[in-house]
Amino acid sequence: MPQIDDLPPLRDVIATHGLDARKSLGQNFLLDLNLTARIARSSGALEGVTVVEVGPGPGGLTRGLLAEGAKAVIAIEKDRRCLAALREIADHYPGRLTIIEGDALEIDMAALAAGVDGPVKVVANLPYNVGTQLLTGWLECDPWPPWWQSLTLMFQKEVAERIVASEVDKAYGRLGVLAGWRTRARMLFDIAPQAFTPPPKVTSAVVHLEPILEPMDCDIRYLRRVTAAAFGQRRKMLRSSLKALNVAPAALLDDAGLNETARAEEIPVSGFVALANSLRERSNKAQ
Ligand code: SAM
Repeated sequence: MPQIDDLPPLRDVIATHGLDARKSLGQNFLLDLNLTARIARSSGALEGVTVVEVGPGPGGLTRGLLAEGAKAVIAIEKDRRCLAALREIADHYPGRLTIIEGDALEIDMAALAAGVDGPVKVVANLPYNVGTQLLTGWLECDPWPPWWQSLTLMFQKEVAERIVASEVDKAYGRLGVLAGWRTRARMLFDIAPQAFTPPPKVTSAVVHLEPILEPMDCDIRYLRRVTAAAFGQRRKMLRSSLKALNVAPAALLDDAGLNETARAEEIPVSGFVALANSLRERSNKAQ
C-alpha cells in the first residue's frame, strides 16, 4: 500500500500510545491512510485552506488533510490520551498543525476562524454522540454566510440521509429543512463498518455541505418552532399538528399558500420558510 507520509502506521501509533477505543467518546478509528486521504480530497481543493477538524483521535484524517496540501489544520480533541500522537504529526509538518485539547461543543470555532487568513473548511469524522449537535450549531450560526466555506463530515448513514433529505425522501425531517434552507447538501460515499477499528454496528457516510450565500429570508427561531410542531406529529395533517404554535393553523397555512390537509413530510423547505414568516408576522402583530 503506498504511504502518504513517513510517519508510523496508525496501528503502531495506537499501540505506542495505548489508544484503546472508548465508546463513551464515540471512538471508531479509521486506520487506512488511503481512505482518510480520499475523505480529505472529497472536501475539494485544500491549497491555501485552513481546516478545522473535530476529533482527530490518533490522527488518520489529520495526516490525510496535511498530505493532501491543507495550508493548516486546527484539530480539536477531547481525549488527552491522543495528544502525544498528534504532537508527532505536528512535528512532521512544522507550523501547520495546531492541536486544541477540549470539548468541541464548548469551543468558539467562529472566533478561531476569525484569527485565520484565507478560507476555512470543516472536515471531520465526527463522534456519533455529538455529531448532530455540532452540525446544527454550524447550520444555525450567525452571521450568515458563515465562517466556514464547506463542511465535509462523516456520520452514521442514517443521519447522513436525514441531512440531505428533501420532501420526496423518507428521511425528511427537521434536519433536512435546516440544511436545505441554508446549504446545498449532498451525499458523497458510504464507508463500511469494517473500515473502522473497532467496527461500529452501522454503515457510515460522508456528506458535503456548502452554504447558500443568500438563503430565503427567514428568522431561524420561527423556523425551529414551525418544524418542531410539524414534525413532532409528522403523521398528522398540518391543520392539527400546527395547533401547538398558538396561532390558528388555518391562518398560517393560508398565508403560506399550503393545503390544510398536507402533512409535514410533503412540504418543501420553501413551505416551511413561508410558515415561519407567517408565524413571525402574526406573533408580532398580536403583541
Ligand atoms: N478522526 C479519527 C479517525 O477518523 O479515525 C477519529 C474519529 S472518532 C469517530 C471521533 C473522535 O472524536 C475521537 O477521537 C474522540 O475522542 C473525539 N471526540 C469525542 N467527543 C468529542 C468532543 N466533544 N470534542 C472533541 N472531540 C471529541
